[in-house]
Amino acid sequence: MDKPRVAIFDFACCEGCQLQIVNLEEELLDVLTLIQPVEWREALSDQSDTYDIAIVEGSITRPEDEEKLREIRAPAAILIALGACATMGGINKLKNNFAMDEVRAEVYGKDGSMPHLNTLPTRALDEVVKVDLKIHGCPINNREFAYILRCLALGKTPAIPNYPVCVECKMRGTVCRYEYNEICLGPVTRAGCNAPCPSAGFWCFGCRGYVDDPNVQAAREVMEHYGKTMDDLKSRLLLFGSGQEPTS
Ligand code: SF4
Ligand code: SF4
Ligand code: SF4
Repeated sequence: MDKPRVAIFDFACCEGCQLQIVNLEEELLDVLTLIQPVEWREALSDQSDTYDIAIVEGSITRPEDEEKLREIRAPAAILIALGACATMGGINKLKNNFAMDEVRAEVYGKDGSMPHLNTLPTRALDEVVKVDLKIHGCPINNREFAYILRCLALGKTPAIPNYPVCVECKMRGTVCRYEYNEICLGPVTRAGCNAPCPSAGFWCFGCRGYVDDPNVQAAREVMEHYGKTMDDLKSRLLLFGSGQEPTS
């Protein structure tokens, strides 16, 4: 069986998710027995227009990004959005809460009107092209990345968790952040990270995005139980949800 040809591309991001792939170290060698990387700016000098799987990191923030993403999509049988910037716009989407002229002036001062700084409201990849699979997180969980690539190389459908982070948090026996009078997004956020933040003493800030069909009523009950309001919860949704409320 021919190995699937895999190309990795990036748009607006910190490239931390690609770094997570490199951080797989020996396991990466294992994954490479199943796939053939043909383009990956961070690790290869080769380039190719012929590939089966395109893995795309970063969000779309300029007109030329949109055109390039469509070009990347065209030859790919499977397009994977890698990390929160690609799956939901990520932290880059915070700027959508402001006027773009204001954003440009804030970041670049008097140079903000230069043509190459022609920033647009941030979009996730699936707001521009069809996305077949999402690898969630900021950064991604590299074990999940390796699992998904293995599945695809073997012609299997990877199972992406569709239950909340609270499940993994409780399985780890972590004391809930609400017991510390904090607000945590675990009840509406997709699991798969093994809840590292609550176990390290931080609330979940929702970097894996919402579960499909989040149980908003259960979240409301948690809020009421701990004397919080849904507005308190919404105040935490800005970082990754860009203020977009979960609905069910
Ligand atoms: S999702 Fe996070 S770690 Fe990954 S590229 Fe975006 S900002 Fe960086
Ligand atoms: S609300 Fe947060 S800390 Fe509490 S169980 Fe859920 S994920 Fe864990
Ligand atoms: S616990 Fe929440 S913020 Fe932390 S990695 Fe998991 S989804 Fe992201």
